Amino acid sequence: MDNDAASTHLHPYPWHAEQWQRLCNLRHSETLPHAYLLKGAQGGGKFRFACAFAGYMLCPTPQGDAACGQCKSCQLYRSGNHPDIKVLQPEEKSKVVKVDQVRQVIDFASKTAQQGGYRIIIINPAEAMNSNAANALLKSLEEPGENTLILLVTARQNSMLATINSRCQQLAFPLPDRTETLDWLSGLSKAGREDLELILTLADGQPLTALQYANDQILKERARLIEEIGSITKGQNSPVDIAQRWKDQNTTELLGWVSGWLVDIAKIQQAGSSAVLNNPDLAAMAGYIAGKSTPQALFALQRWVNEQRALSQGSANLNKQLMLEDLLVRWLHLTLG
Ligand SMILES: [Zn+2]
Repeated sequence: MDNDAASTHLHPYPWHAEQWQRLCNLRHSETLPHAYLLKGAQGGGKFRFACAFAGYMLCPTPQGDAACGQCKSCQLYRSGNHPDIKVLQPEEKSKVVKVDQVRQVIDFASKTAQQGGYRIIIINPAEAMNSNAANALLKSLEEPGENTLILLVTARQNSMLATINSRCQQLAFPLPDRTETLDWLSGLSKAGREDLELILTLADGQPLTALQYANDQILKERARLIEEIGSITKGQNSPVDIAQRWKDQNTTELLGWVSGWLVDIAKIQQAGSSAVLNNPDLAAMAGYIAGKSTPQALFALQRWVNEQRALSQGSANLNKQLMLEDLLVRWLHLTLG
């Protein structure tokens, strides 16, 4: 595989058993389409599913509905160097999949597979294709080479060209339910159940994001951010100072947290102390700001945060320091009425 980040697991996550079975059945009945769009929320494991299915398709001696894990093809897969799998992802520092990258895989798809079976192309995330790249791919979707399977992975289907959407079969990957996810997390993390509950809420229910949060000791990190944002409202630090301290934070993640805090503040304004909060440990801070600000001001800041978050996920390069200063000044103004 071309990309270091490609998964070398031969099995999907346990909560994707149903989707796995669906594709296996299509394989057995030789009715597998040539292009599939794997769609669903971020952090649920769709990419690992795509890679594992590629490994299974290429294994000449599968055991039931799984790759054997022993043959030459499986060894190549596990080393991340299977010549018949191409993984297209944005190149380093780029947020887009470029037309040249797509042309290379189209060329690859037109050749005979080196191991004599399928050739598999995985594009992750598929919405990262710019319009030239997507248009170049369209032709392959219309006239795929024999024994070619294209797996497009996306959490943002609405950002994709409609013509791409309409040429792929679609498979939905909903997130697993909370209890199942907590059980899975408990087996992998030393954190207590109560901390994992909070972590999973902060991760919007996404298992892989939650696991990463647990491994990164995100609660400690979050506690520091909360203390620092609180120090602005107390007049102990300026927005510029705190923006400087926050400059190494992941912008999308940070804005997601701030957005969650704003939701809680709005809930307290509406429901008072009976509000059910996403960040129950922040009830005091949220209550204080709820009392000082207006619903209009909260709504305006929430909209601004959402816009900045969308920008940070897109291809634009933001001036992070300025954006953070702007954010913290706006936060401070919430409490100034
Ligand atoms: Zn095998």
